[in-house]
Amino acid sequence: DSSASADTQPRILLMGLRRSGKSSIQKVVFHKMSPNETLFLESTNKIHKDDLSGSSFVNFQIWDFPGQVDFFDPTFDDEMIFTGTGALIFVIDAQDDYVEALGRLHGTVSRAYRVNPHINFEVFIHKVDGLSDDHKIETQRDVYQRANDDLADVGLEKLHLSFYLTSIYDHSIFEAFSKVVQKLLPQLPTLENLLNIFISHSGIEKAFLFDMVSKIYIATDSSAVDMQSYELCCDMIDVVIDISCIYGPIEDGGAYDKESLAIIKLNNTTVLYLKEVTRFLAVVCVLREESFERKGLIDYNFHCFRKAVHEVFEVGCRTQRNGGRPDDS
Ligand code: GDP
Repeated sequence: DSSASADTQPRILLMGLRRSGKSSIQKVVFHKMSPNETLFLESTNKIHKDDLSGSSFVNFQIWDFPGQVDFFDPTFDDEMIFTGTGALIFVIDAQDDYVEALGRLHGTVSRAYRVNPHINFEVFIHKVDGLSDDHKIETQRDVYQRANDDLADVGLEKLHLSFYLTSIYDHSIFEAFSKVVQKLLPQLPTLENLLNIFISHSGIEKAFLFDMVSKIYIATDSSAVDMQSYELCCDMIDVVIDISCIYGPIEDGGAYDKESLAIIKLNNTTVLYLKEVTRFLAVVCVLREESFERKGLIDYNFHCFRKAVHEVFEVGCRTQRNGGRPDDS
């Protein structure tokens, strides 16, 4: 029953003033729109539920509110909206004067917090592609300061806001969305552990568990993430999907399936390795050519890793069906 499952899905709300970039973010991250095409998007003027179930691991809805949503309208049911919301992303246009946006941010989060204090409040300082590096830092500091001062003024020091500098013209929007999604995953520590074990036994430098549709990484090993490897892995996903869309068997429909596997050798002795893990998830690794010589070992370790990931998600499902009790079978 799709309506029942939609109610139990964690929900992300995407909010912000009109023209702040909400529809663009949603189209670029979840619908593969190229950033330049967003110039022609119609402005959002209604609550928009984007149900991603069935296409992406990121199995929740994005509610794209119109910028001018009126909280003081008695028909606006904030109980209904904020209960069951996992994360509220508030988008601020950094290329514009953001005083009004800060006012709206304050009104929105304080209201949401009263209904549901468990929401993760995430602020995207957006469109920073137009800003110099110094200007970015300065803007972030200023937004942070003013937003937190406003909260302190009304005694809401406990309400925690996280800040991200984002743009649809580079990978920062995917990186930020990855962090937002990861915070909503109860399985995250287990997945990180499994990735750590997998890479340390296989001579792999870095591994990401990717949602193939959105290029959000839902987990990575605990070594530091450098943007360059992340971008390489994102580019690899695009290449693999494009090649299989063009040359793959037509009758199967999907460009990504159980057989999906790709190896790309770069000219600096780096190897990129992509392999299917679940219907929506693939692991993408960065490793040295020398390590790749022991491919049998990597394949064996991958097999164990894949099995463990399947168990993690199956146990999750069983626990839900038993009303929270772990299955002892
Ligand atoms: P919405 O009303 O909040 O849904 O805003 P839209 O998604 O319609 O975006 C408004 C305008 O901002 C569009 O012309 C987009 O092309 C532009 N835009 C969105 N994101 C970015 C960004 O990261 N950088 C820049 N420079 N422009 C952006």
